[in-house]
Amino acid sequence: MKKISLIVPCYNEETCLPAFDREISKVVEGMQGYEFEILYVNDGSKDNTLKEIRQISERRGYVRYLSFSRNFGKEAAMYAGFCNATGDYVAVMDADLQDPPGLLPDMVKILEEGEYDSVATRRVNRAGEPPIRSFFAKMFYKLINKISDADIVDGARDYRLMKREMVDVIVAMGERNRFSKGIFGWIGFRTYWYAFENVERAAGETKWSFWKLLKYSIDGIVSFSQAPLNIASWIGVLCTGISAIAIIFIIVRKLIFGDDVQGWASNMCVMIFIGGVQLFCLGVIGQYLGKTYAETKKRPHYIVSECSDSQIKKIG
Ligand code: UDP
Ligand code: MG
Repeated sequence: MKKISLIVPCYNEETCLPAFDREISKVVEGMQGYEFEILYVNDGSKDNTLKEIRQISERRGYVRYLSFSRNFGKEAAMYAGFCNATGDYVAVMDADLQDPPGLLPDMVKILEEGEYDSVATRRVNRAGEPPIRSFFAKMFYKLINKISDADIVDGARDYRLMKREMVDVIVAMGERNRFSKGIFGWIGFRTYWYAFENVERAAGETKWSFWKLLKYSIDGIVSFSQAPLNIASWIGVLCTGISAIAIIFIIVRKLIFGDDVQGWASNMCVMIFIGGVQLFCLGVIGQYLGKTYAETKKRPHYIVSECSDSQIKKIG
């Protein structure tokens, strides 16, 4: 009998969990012939999420859980899930029912046909999302696909069912600065894209503020592209070229018209502009250096303070 593991990252989801448990148990009961493991990852929630998870795990034999010592972020929660999932098929599923559990039987069927190694989901619209957020998200996907070799589909969710082979590769990719959508695309394998209409959050609020998303998108770009570094060096080349032309122009002008002290304002403008460009490029390098620093420290991705069984890896 094949085993399906579902990883559910939870951060302050006490209001969503009862509904999620109800929905997912329906799916589990409907899929006879498969063994299930639902792995809740409590990502340092400040509400009663852990209590809810404990209760669910007492009620249902197929539920396991681990709870982080603090909030490590969704990426760490997913990684902890992948490290501890034991299924032949593994999927990540949000606790807010935005990743419809009802799609799971279809997804499993597609994998069983043997043509694909993973079934990824993508929402075809962003109904219910603030337009400004949708706009920036679209721009981000366009940009990252242009400048990196991580093949990321617009509207892609982290909800995807993968075969064990793929999960093993993901676990082996132990990078600290994680951007899962990029990792999924980067490792390759044959992926089927399953489109669905956007579903709004069942309860509670999104955990992603605009700034958090901006930071996450910079993480994504720095993880998968060196284009910003190249752009910085090209800006350097361009500025050097312009200044060479300017120098020649000034020398020739002096030789022809003599020396007159003029152009204070334009001088200051150029200085401030060049200073700005330099700081910007230093900042770009700093982004990469900072990530490199984090990687070299090799700190764990997550620390578990409580878990359902002794099989769970406590530090990973
Ligand atoms: N999440 C998490 N840690 C965090 C933030 C979010 O584990 O620091 C979980 C959250 O509980 C949910 C999923 O990640 O199950 C997606 O979060 P959310 O619904 O807030 O994101 P959105 O759907 O708005 O992009
Ligand atoms: Mg959500």
